[in-house]
Amino acid sequence: MKLFWTIITKLYCNLLAYGFKLPKISWLFNKPVKSVSHQLTVYILADTNFTKKEQLHILYAANNINYFCNGMVEFEIDFKLDPNNLLDIENNNTLIKARLQHPTIEKAIQEHQRQICGLCYYQPNKNRTIFLVPENLYNSTIFQATTAHELLHAIWLQHTEKPSILYDTVAYNKLLFPTKIDAQELVRVWSTVIPIKIDQFRYFKMPN
Ligand SMILES: [Zn+2]
Repeated sequence: MKLFWTIITKLYCNLLAYGFKLPKISWLFNKPVKSVSHQLTVYILADTNFTKKEQLHILYAANNINYFCNGMVEFEIDFKLDPNNLLDIENNNTLIKARLQHPTIEKAIQEHQRQICGLCYYQPNKNRTIFLVPENLYNSTIFQATTAHELLHAIWLQHTEKPSILYDTVAYNKLLFPTKIDAQELVRVWSTVIPIKIDQFRYFKMPN
């Protein structure tokens, strides 16, 4: 049975990565019997410099995270941020399109001694500033997976083990949907706020 799921889930991810426009196949995801009461809407002002194609990748990733969260958390993304408006960045959750030469990205590269695809920072006032570096996001899967990864950081989740969206080097898996491992991390963080169980989330049924 595990081999069957491994083949099916890998095939589905590979077809998506090849660019096939497949719908979400509901039986590949956990089907919660109960919905989760809504706790948080994360409204994000996103950089107007993202191209139309990049905007679609971001919206696809946000949609996948909303699907996973089953109503508990919702992301709303609005492409109307002028990235030079520092006051807007301070006073909102924001998503910024950064070049490799951006000072924050250069600093992170030095700090981590590796390629940076995305970052999620919390400001002292708790607003989130998310960076995406399209120069390192060279295909749609890597773009979408990295966006999903940063959005999960934006609801306080931390890195997990493979196979998951929150795995540290998610960009090199062909995985676009949170798995049971991500759901465990979601429950670990959010069960301090609301009584929840892993089965209440629509995780992708990829074998561990
Ligand atoms: Zn991360």
